[in-house]
Amino acid sequence: MAFKENFYYRSPLFIQNILTSLYGKYLTLERYGPAYRERLNELIEKEGQEIDYRSEQLKRLNSFLEFSKRHSPYYRRLFDEIGLVLPLDSLEQLQNIPVLEKETLRSRIDEVRTDIHAPVLSKTGGTTGTSLQVYFTKEDMQYRMAHLDYFKGTHGFKKGMRRASFTGQPLVSDGQRTKVFWRFNKSVNQLLFSINQVKPDTIPLYLEQLNAFAPQSLDGIPSGMIEIARYARDHGIKCTFTPLAIFPTAEMINDEERALLEEVFRAPVYDQYASSEGAPIVAECKYGKKHLHHEMGILERDEATGEVLVTSFDTRGTPLIRYRIGDRMTFSEETCHCGLSGPIISSIDGRGRSYLYTDDQRKLFEGDLTSLVRSLPNCIKRVQYIQERANEIIFLYVPDPERFSDVHEKQLHHMLSRLFGPRMLIILRSVPEIPKEISGKTLLIKQYLN
Ligand SMILES: [Zn+2]
Repeated sequence: MAFKENFYYRSPLFIQNILTSLYGKYLTLERYGPAYRERLNELIEKEGQEIDYRSEQLKRLNSFLEFSKRHSPYYRRLFDEIGLVLPLDSLEQLQNIPVLEKETLRSRIDEVRTDIHAPVLSKTGGTTGTSLQVYFTKEDMQYRMAHLDYFKGTHGFKKGMRRASFTGQPLVSDGQRTKVFWRFNKSVNQLLFSINQVKPDTIPLYLEQLNAFAPQSLDGIPSGMIEIARYARDHGIKCTFTPLAIFPTAEMINDEERALLEEVFRAPVYDQYASSEGAPIVAECKYGKKHLHHEMGILERDEATGEVLVTSFDTRGTPLIRYRIGDRMTFSEETCHCGLSGPIISSIDGRGRSYLYTDDQRKLFEGDLTSLVRSLPNCIKRVQYIQERANEIIFLYVPDPERFSDVHEKQLHHMLSRLFGPRMLIILRSVPEIPKEISGKTLLIKQYLN
């Protein structure tokens, strides 16, 4: 990747901008080819039509299963062992294929990989320390981009409009003296903001730059946007631009954070779910409903655990068939008037293996843990839960020094011990900021027990 090269860091800023644009141009060619246009047109044509999405899924599933059998040694052997007959007659028959566990994928990834040219690498990891390297074909990426652009298009944002993107990519070298924490990618009219330098003393510069650029959408890692928004609100700094929408990616946001972003940046938030392994996209429509883009795959719910099993048609480098990705979802029976067909998901709980154990070995998921801070309005800026031992929770929090008092600390301790049980040792640590992961994300939960 161009950003990692020393040459980039040793270059003056205007060269770095040119390199960013060149790399952007390269990505553009890779991402916006014939497969992109074909899929985008398909999605636009289907809009508002009555679609039997299950029969569409079955057709795509069968062709994906045939493909995986032909090109992946792992699936060839697996399908032989279970005597799988292709094509399947119904979607229900997918359940005859065993679940692909994360650990199986990790340890046998070379067998799962297909023998075709799939040059696009994606690395995952973080929450569990399980790191995976999966590959995609260029067409896979183009289909994915088509769905993302279609999703943004339904909210009025078109390719080529001014985009402010918040990224954890190392855009800025450690030694850089000038306070310019953004780079321009001319190929798609995108100003990339590095989230790694977002701090109270730099945030006014970010806000100034945002106002000057006047983006028509904000996207990327939300924690950076949230920090900036919180600062702007607390210091009465106004944004002078009005974007069409805000599209957070990669991290979950809670209701309070969503409201904050919408208030400060004066635009609606439309969230999406995707993963670096390549799960099909689930994205919010104008009515706030989460739709599965069913052209990309199938989601099943494992009733025993509530976890989602992912079959993703656009993973031709490292095929995912009934992959237990580690997230939990609840499906909804409701329908929507927005014109999209396909299943609606009512909630996505816990990304990665984001849960902690209580003193009696119950699991607490992100949803249970975010509500705690909501009950202490405004006196805590950010928190992180760390569990390294079964009987101990370390709770990091960034207090607002003007509002936080000893009473709140006692209250916190009380609530945490009610949540985790009386035998849990609760350690509170007040910190100036929550450390970021290498990816640039800030995690709510770090659990090291498994
Ligand atoms: Zn809808």
